[in-house]
Amino acid sequence: MNIAIVGATGLVGREVIKILEEKDLVDGNNITLFASSKSAGKTININGNCHRVKELCNKNINDRFDFAIFTAGSEVSLKWANKFVKNGAWVIDNSSAFRRTKGVPLVVPEINFMPIQKAKIIANPNCSTIGASIPIKILDDLFGVKRIIISTYQAVSGAGQTGVEDLKNGTTNKFKYNIKDNLIPQIDKEINNGYTFEEDKMDFELKKILNNKNLKISATCVRVPITNCHSESVNVECKKEPSVELFKQKICNTKGIKLVDDLKNGQYPMPSLANGGNDILIGRIRKDTSNKNSINFFICFDNLRKGAALNAVQIMEYLIRLKQN
Ligand code: NAP
Repeated sequence: MNIAIVGATGLVGREVIKILEEKDLVDGNNITLFASSKSAGKTININGNCHRVKELCNKNINDRFDFAIFTAGSEVSLKWANKFVKNGAWVIDNSSAFRRTKGVPLVVPEINFMPIQKAKIIANPNCSTIGASIPIKILDDLFGVKRIIISTYQAVSGAGQTGVEDLKNGTTNKFKYNIKDNLIPQIDKEINNGYTFEEDKMDFELKKILNNKNLKISATCVRVPITNCHSESVNVECKKEPSVELFKQKICNTKGIKLVDDLKNGQYPMPSLANGGNDILIGRIRKDTSNKNSINFFICFDNLRKGAALNAVQIMEYLIRLKQN
């Protein structure tokens, strides 16, 4: 099984490598690392061996890859993904390049594998969408979901290495304003209805993943001065009156999500608890006292792992099982 990682030197690319190591999916010879010409020749240690990063260019992509995990942004995916497909690879793309493309599955493995067998490009949803999607799917199965209001608190690592450096150094290379001691209520570009593209991604992608065009969704996405792990405050209006107890029970029986909910004893999801972990942490679950069919909760998760790299590797693992059957 040959794996290519495009964008291997970035935050998500490095996390993909870490997860492949943790899951024993890489040996010394089955992985090829690509980045821009700037990083070509750099080395990355994988399982104790030094791997040289190659420039992403036509002469370097002639090998046959079974999987290519793209973590280098939309422009790179749009230019190169189909070339890898032509050479026989399944492409799992972390960017927003193909998420809205008809026939490209948008997959959160705990929720929907849909017609993944037929697709050659599979899109990983936006990190904020992945985090919210699992608890919302549980509520939808139990009580039917009508309307979702989300406020996000997104870490600087969500904007890549340059975002992390902006927080560390007080620079403004990624963000428009100094993010130190600040909040920026704009993530991604403005679209023409007062929302940002990040907020529109949550709307479009949740509908596609949950296969429900009638959902009503309104999101506000905010960048916060936290290095890693996104948090979200979510209010969900259901068709039937929701039960907090049933919701909690189902969470405890669902993979990938962990209940941390004991307000009396100060137990709730926080970036410091979620950092480096695989689960979406959920707490502060309570009925909305202003509307009997609504429920509130708070989630926190590692955006580089479940929000990106881990979700992509889980998709790859599913495709490996498909190949073997
Ligand atoms: P990052 O830290 O800025 O890394 C970007 C990577 O892309 C680097 O390896 C960079 O290589 C590579 N790259 C840039 N231009 C290239 C080119 N022309 N050819 C080949 N490689 C190129 O960004 P990131 O946070 O890892 O994000 C990567 C992708 O994942 C983005 O599409 C992002 O939207 C998506 N994503 C990120 C997160 C998150 O939490 N960060 C979550 C979900 C999805 P060089 O070292 O050579 O510059």
